[in-house]
Amino acid sequence: MDELWRLHGEALEKESEVERSLDEGKVCYSDLEVPKSSLLHLKSTIAHKLMESCVLCERRCMKDRLHGELGYCRVGKEMYVSSYFDHMGEEPEIVPSFTVYDQKSAELAWDAISGASTARTGA
Ligand code: SF4
Repeated sequence: MDELWRLHGEALEKESEVERSLDEGKVCYSDLEVPKSSLLHLKSTIAHKLMESCVLCERRCMKDRLHGELGYCRVGKEMYVSSYFDHMGEEPEIVPSFTVYDQKSAELAWDAISGASTARTGA
C-alpha cells in the first residue's frame, strides 16, 4: 500500500506539472504522450485495497467489503450511486466537500424525512 501511495503522490505531482504547462501554453494536448496507465486506474486500485479493511469514511469499520463483510453503511463491494454533488453546507474547512449518496443512504434519508420505514435485510 505504501508503494501505491508513493506512486499516487508522484502521479499527482506530474499531473500538476502537465496542467501548469498546458495553462501557461508551454505545451498543447497534441504534444503529450498517450499514457500507458492512468491516475484514475491507480486511484481505483487504491480504493479497492482500502475496501479490504474499509477506512473509506470516518467510521473506519475495517470490514472486508471486497469479500462480503458489511460495515456501518451496509454497502458492499458495489454501490448504486443515487446522487453526487458539491456539498456547500459543511464546516468551512471542508467546503466544498464532494458528497456521494448511495441507494441505501438515500433510503435512510427518505425514512428520516418521511417517517417511513423501508424494509432492509441485514441492516
Ligand atoms: S461505514 Fe462503510 S464506508 Fe465507512 S468505514 Fe464503514 S464500511 Fe467503510
